Amino acid sequence: MDFNDSPEEAAYREKARSWLEANASEHKSTSANGRRPNSPEHMAAAKSWQAKKADAGYACITWPKEWGGGGGTPIQSVIFGQEEGKVGVNYGYFTIGLGMCVPTVMAFADAETKTRYVGPAMRGEEIWCQLFSEPAGGSDVAASRTRAVKDGDEWVINGQKVWTTGAQYSDYGILLVRTDPDVPKHKGMTMFWIDMHDPAVEVRPIHQASGGSEFNEVYFTDLRVKDSQRLGAVGEGWKVALVTLMNERLAVGGSSGPDYKTIMELARQTDGIKDGAFREKLADWYVAAEGLKLTRFRTMTALSKGQTPGPESSIGKIIAANQMQEMSNYGVEMEDQYGILADPSEAPLQAAFQQSLLWAPGLRIAGGTDEILKNIIAERVLGLPGDIRLDKDVAFKDVPTGR
Ligand SMILES: Cc1cc2nc3c(=O)[nH]c(=O)nc-3n(C[C@H](O)[C@H](O)[C@H](O)COP(=O)(O)OP(=O)(O)OC[C@H]3O[C@@H](n4cnc5c(N)ncnc54)[C@H](O)[C@@H]3O)c2cc1C
Repeated sequence: MDFNDSPEEAAYREKARSWLEANASEHKSTSANGRRPNSPEHMAAAKSWQAKKADAGYACITWPKEWGGGGGTPIQSVIFGQEEGKVGVNYGYFTIGLGMCVPTVMAFADAETKTRYVGPAMRGEEIWCQLFSEPAGGSDVAASRTRAVKDGDEWVINGQKVWTTGAQYSDYGILLVRTDPDVPKHKGMTMFWIDMHDPAVEVRPIHQASGGSEFNEVYFTDLRVKDSQRLGAVGEGWKVALVTLMNERLAVGGSSGPDYKTIMELARQTDGIKDGAFREKLADWYVAAEGLKLTRFRTMTALSKGQTPGPESSIGKIIAANQMQEMSNYGVEMEDQYGILADPSEAPLQAAFQQSLLWAPGLRIAGGTDEILKNIIAERVLGLPGDIRLDKDVAFKDVPTGR
């Protein structure tokens, strides 16, 4: 494990830092300048920041130059992300599209599709969403029931997806559907890209505890899609989905939010620091944060050597999400009656603990739940026996549904 930047990495960090210093200030994502998350002003600021990064080669650092990317390495992308995180331009609108959907399009679509769609997505002009999860298939994405039936040169799609982040403002989506129920579940699926503005696509936002609506239910009623919108071969959708999901685990691995230093600051302000039980908890959080930092160094070292991080990167999300939930609970309680204020302009520390208390349960589910990630660690890191999979060799139509 290497804790320091190599000379080339240090030089790249310096270059990124000075570019950010010169360019980020007018694009900040704070509500102080009227840019509240999900407002038109916030979206406009996000799009103009994305376009600026694209012009400078920082929008998609690892993408090939022929598609307008930076032609850089994964470690350069991580370094830029770390520096960008420090300057207050944190917009989430493009993460799913550029981190998961468009790389899948680049890997499986024809040249014409790539020429038309990759550039506008990279510059933030068009947004993509990921339509995988369904009421009957979340952790088990291969249990999807949305059906596509071939009709001439088109497919007719009917069904429902759920938890689709950003569907309400997305222009396109990648959609995993069942095309053959007569074979085992992993073998009868196919992936398509679709136009989210098609009248046969209905998006219904889900109202969240935080007051926002970041994700949606999406219904398809006789949606007609051209065969040329297929990504990968018919029946090979699971393999295509794995490419998307591998990118997802890396993308949601990191997390922002208050850390042990923030809660220590709060404890100093509220006299909580004098409480022995709190100091004991603080020591636990510090130890976990150090362990997490070292695990991330391991991932960084793998990227720096040109290797792909292994399934051990699942550890990071479990620890970070659980720690975020525990610490936010503690922080909100420590704020006493002010703990009920979720407005950043009213609550202590710009409502950092209130916001992360509402976000942490979602983080424990998105990109693989705690239990699923523990299964991955047990099976692929520790080599323990696999989960029992009774439906593995059964035709999908014969898998019991409980009805
Ligand atoms: C913030 C957020 C954003 C999301 N964005 C998107 C998106 O953009 N697109 C999209 O397609 N989906 C998205 N999702 C959905 C997400 O992928 C699923 O919620 C997740 O995979 C879990 O599926 P589920 O909700 O159906 O829960 P289930 O799979 O039904 O799980 C229910 C419970 O059972 C446990 N469980 C399930 N299987 C096992 C097992 N084999 N062993 C042990 N325990 C098990 C789970 O851990 C969980 O506790 C998002 C979710 C969140 C929270």
